[in-house]
Amino acid sequence: MNLSAKRKDSCSIAAFEQAKKVIPGGVNSPVRAFSSVDLTPVFAARGQGARVFDIDGNEFIDYIGSWGPLILGHAHPEVVEAIKEAASRGTSFGLSTEIEIKMAEWICKSIPSIEMVRMVNSGTEASMSALRLARGYTKRQKIVKFQGGYHGHADALLIKSGSGVATLGLPDSPGVPDSVAAHTLTAPYNSMDSVRFLFEQYGEQIAAVIVEPVAGNMGVIPPAPGFLHGLREVTKQYGSLLIFDEVMTGYRVSFHGAQGLYGIDPDLTCLGKIIGGGLPVGAYGGKREIMEQVAPVGSIYQAGTLSGNPLAMAAGYRTLQLLEEPGFYEELDRKAARLAEGFTQNAELTGIPLKTNRVGSMFSAFFAEQEVFDYDSAKRSNMQLFKAYYAAMLDLGILTAPTPYEVNFVSAAHSDEDIERTISVHYQALIKISN
Ligand code: PLP
Repeated sequence: MNLSAKRKDSCSIAAFEQAKKVIPGGVNSPVRAFSSVDLTPVFAARGQGARVFDIDGNEFIDYIGSWGPLILGHAHPEVVEAIKEAASRGTSFGLSTEIEIKMAEWICKSIPSIEMVRMVNSGTEASMSALRLARGYTKRQKIVKFQGGYHGHADALLIKSGSGVATLGLPDSPGVPDSVAAHTLTAPYNSMDSVRFLFEQYGEQIAAVIVEPVAGNMGVIPPAPGFLHGLREVTKQYGSLLIFDEVMTGYRVSFHGAQGLYGIDPDLTCLGKIIGGGLPVGAYGGKREIMEQVAPVGSIYQAGTLSGNPLAMAAGYRTLQLLEEPGFYEELDRKAARLAEGFTQNAELTGIPLKTNRVGSMFSAFFAEQEVFDYDSAKRSNMQLFKAYYAAMLDLGILTAPTPYEVNFVSAAHSDEDIERTISVHYQALIKISN
């Protein structure tokens, strides 16, 4: 390992300058700007397996994995073949296709709480549509979400975490009307007391609680024992729906999602990422009685020109088939556990306060003295240390999420050698920042 290696970035700098002239901030999604670590963004040229190669000729072991979809790694030959084959038959029809049925059947079979499912084009659309359905079905307007929980950028869900125990929503972004935000109640993740407090005040008006069953958008935060069961109980008690946003966790933490892992039966589930095999996709599904309220059978409207797109269905369907191989998740878990164990050992050896949170193949590392269990504790982590650490990792060829508030993903394409190399680079990075 060349410890003085520096990432080459002259082409990325030039591309970023060019991009900024025609794309806001030079990126099509804010996190790609790498502004949280004050670095030039990586411009990807190609990916293969666990590797990303950028336009400067750098090679990275990649743990971003397109923010979750690439559980099989980049350009998996069977997924690429499925896409090619589908494309050769036509890229979109605006008519029904048989693969949509196969996909829906597969989802219903593997996630038992889903009796019917509707495909959409993104996770944002999935959660936005599930919310409309919950409101239409219950004829109530308020919803509960958790501080630091991200469900895409629909107005009602883009609500800032309030101060205090639990507060009425304030818009997180200019452009979100106060009147919309006013219907969104927020509570700290993992705090059943706060949720009960909200239900005691507004219970009869609450259409749904939407939750990431393993939080992934404030870094990885596992649900505290009893938290998800508590949500199921309180929503049942008040006649509200429980929506699991499994856009990230679906087919990631187990073949049956986080609901399979923790044994919860939500009313509605949002999916995305993995089910598109790297192509744009989302889905929402759940109990038949509720899903039958969606148009055209019911009156709650939702539609999409490209929904159920044949390329996305082909890529997703092939991906899901490969995940069903015996031992797939055990193997993924084994590798991710080794990585997290290595990170923890490195922290002990170097004396740097680092907490590595992990659920299955999702992990994140916080520079924090105390356990990280909600948004506030995540925000208390040391960002200056993270920045220095991040730059060191990148220079040594390891590409992780450029913020501690996002998840890193181990894929089936990561070899044991990749994992061991990552652990030794991590050690070097910690040594570097401790000097
Ligand atoms: N829900 C969760 C839990 C997510 O992590 C994300 C995206 O990261 C979304 C929803 C939004 O999905 P998309 O980016 O496909 O709109």
